Amino acid sequence: MPDIIQLLPDHVANQIAAGEVVQRPASVVKELLENAIDAQATKINLVVKDAGKTLVQVTDNGIGMSPTDARLSFERHATSKIKTAEDLFNLHTKGFRGEALASIAAIAHVELKSRTAATEVGTRICIEGSKVVSQEAEVVAKGTTISVKNLFYNIPARRNFLKSNPVETRHIIDEFHRVALAHPQVAFTMTHNGSDVFNLPESNIRQRIVNIFGNKTNEKLVPVSEETEIVKVSGFVLKPEYARKSRGEQFFFVNDRFIKSPYLHHAVSSAFEGLVKEGTHPGYFLFLEVEPTSIDINIHPTKTEIKFDDEHAIYAMLRATVKHSLGQFSIAPVLDFNK
Ligand code: ADP
Ligand code: MG
Repeated sequence: MPDIIQLLPDHVANQIAAGEVVQRPASVVKELLENAIDAQATKINLVVKDAGKTLVQVTDNGIGMSPTDARLSFERHATSKIKTAEDLFNLHTKGFRGEALASIAAIAHVELKSRTAATEVGTRICIEGSKVVSQEAEVVAKGTTISVKNLFYNIPARRNFLKSNPVETRHIIDEFHRVALAHPQVAFTMTHNGSDVFNLPESNIRQRIVNIFGNKTNEKLVPVSEETEIVKVSGFVLKPEYARKSRGEQFFFVNDRFIKSPYLHHAVSSAFEGLVKEGTHPGYFLFLEVEPTSIDINIHPTKTEIKFDDEHAIYAMLRATVKHSLGQFSIAPVLDFNK
């Protein structure tokens, strides 16, 4: 019997990886916004057309890339963010897998323009289905613009699987919220089909929440702030009377990264016990800071799950802190739900 195993060509491997990283246009938005944050941008503009199906474009004023780096950035496992396996357990950046751009370039038409502070002329590179179509010198602003067009153009099954424009737009806005909330000191704009959706100036977290969710949110916020040796908790919970049936404004950030955690959600919900009506969910914007060495982020390709060394202690601390804040703001322990 002859040997039958072969290594997959790069563009096939990229397409497989893309299936994990890029589920929908919102995944592209997340990856590009996070790259802009990692590039130390202070201003980030997101432009979306047709719910991201035709165009997702992110422009940042960050550190930019040299022409060689620009080309390399589309290779798989190409990253400037980690060097060794140990670095995986001491992460200070959003990215580290070096897979996003390679994945996106495997399933879309991508144009990248970039320039570092070191040069006057930048570079423009076009990639389609993992193949570099062109690269030339071009005069561009310092920073980076990446345009991702016609997502899934070469995977009709994936493209057909996308939901309606309102649904895909909702996912994009969710990702935008998550990054914008995690980085209030960065200015963000978003336009969709030429109309302004968000224009968020550089600010603090309270102001950022209000800018996103409206002026009325301000009076709903109860500040949370406590610190132990293993975790620092800050941010806000919404007053119990604003708990809602639908799950809405619930955000956990760990070291400025949005994460999903049913376990920590439970800690917060249980702190609200007796204060909110059964079947309603309290809102919160909670920021946890822990030693990067005490968490593992490399659990899932989208990096929205995290493993804590000391999960139980963080649960207990979070619950106590939220309870404490609710108590301090003298929120009545029993509400008359019949009113
Ligand atoms: P990762 O973020 O995990 O490193 P990506 O595929 O997202 O992987 O990006 C690959 C590399 O391209 C990054 O490590 C970074 O060096 C560079 N890069 C990507 N986006 C930008 C950007 N907006 N500005 C500067 N460099 C970038
Ligand atoms: Mg990245």
